[in-house]
Amino acid sequence: MVQLLNRIKLLNNLENQQPQLEKATFVMLVRNSELHDARFNKNFHYPWLFLNDKPFSPEFIHMTRSLVSGNATYGRIPKDAWSMPDWVDRQKARECMRAMATKNILYGGSESYRHMCRFFSGFLWRHELLADYDYYWRVEPNTQLYCDLTYDPFTYMRENNKTYGFVINLLEFPSTIESLWPTVQNFSREHPEYIHPNNALDFIVDGNKNITEGGYNNCHFWSNFEIASLKFWRSQAYQDFFDFLDRTGNFYYERWGDAPVHSIAVSIMLDKEEIHWFYDIGYRHHPFTHCPEPKQEFHDSGRCYCNPTQNFDRDPYACTKQYRHMRGDLGVPGRVPGILEQPVLNLVDRGKGANGLRTKLKMSTEGLELMPGDEGAAQLLKIEDGEGK
Ligand code: GDP
Ligand code: MN
Repeated sequence: MVQLLNRIKLLNNLENQQPQLEKATFVMLVRNSELHDARFNKNFHYPWLFLNDKPFSPEFIHMTRSLVSGNATYGRIPKDAWSMPDWVDRQKARECMRAMATKNILYGGSESYRHMCRFFSGFLWRHELLADYDYYWRVEPNTQLYCDLTYDPFTYMRENNKTYGFVINLLEFPSTIESLWPTVQNFSREHPEYIHPNNALDFIVDGNKNITEGGYNNCHFWSNFEIASLKFWRSQAYQDFFDFLDRTGNFYYERWGDAPVHSIAVSIMLDKEEIHWFYDIGYRHHPFTHCPEPKQEFHDSGRCYCNPTQNFDRDPYACTKQYRHMRGDLGVPGRVPGILEQPVLNLVDRGKGANGLRTKLKMSTEGLELMPGDEGAAQLLKIEDGEGK
């Protein structure tokens, strides 16, 4: 985390030469217990916003505030943004959670994880502490950034009319979102006016099919890193989309992630040109690393310190191929020709997880599944009591 903040400090130092700041903030949803994964350096210019479903402890506030020189705000998530809406049948939800836990589905038994996913899908962007901002950069504890940022990504977003920026894309566990795609298909039938004519559908549907003909290929942008415009989430189109999904109750009966929800929304409702791959930002969230490959530009120059042979983009779980197809094979325009022509390396990290849990991943015809009997599974899949941890 210290390294992460050092990188962000470099970004913020750029602002000394360009005093014009964007209306943007770093935002971190975090638990008090994650304090030691969320330590910060001084001299930030972009503000930090910490959000929590529980009150932040004095210790958390004291530690982080001194480290970010006072540019930090601590917010509480309102109850309705972190609880089951009243149309969700609690009994049914608990039964579904238990059933998913039995099937060893990642976070299948966790209620708080579902609150978190629903919060990022439908409530972050309407939190009052984000009201003055146009853009946010979502940061998670326990992640790393590996490359010097030579420009302000918020300014890049604004000047180039970008709405959604990502670094890693990959396959979702299909068992967490069984009815998500049929729900999206129904939404598209009800609201054809929201489907953009130059959308990025080819990223999420194979075979050049339209929304109602095609199936979801499970590709999504990994939302633990997001640099995004708040305007889009606040649009009528996205609000209607979220409400349509939320009404089904399947954030709870299933375990819909904010990553596929965000990814599907941006892929069908935006111009594909508004989606940006921040290829030049080296990033790690367990268990995957994105490391920019071109040697001269990123490595000989000393700009990045990651290992390009650990670049997840080439992994079969990544959706690089689908992304490039959607971009007309211009995934990263002019930057990494032939990225898919080289042999695919087996780069999946089978080491210890961020929580000390071993998360073995295996390929299956469905995509990515947690191995049954995995030693970490019991903890990840446990049924929680009440409102989370
Ligand atoms: P994963 O990346 O999908 O394995 O999920 P994480 O456990 O990393 O959670 C995603 C983000 O939500 C991280 O920023 C966590 O700190 C945060 N988060 C998850 N659950 C809770 C919770 O119950 N309370 C709070 N305050 N933050 C949470
Ligand atoms: Mn995480």
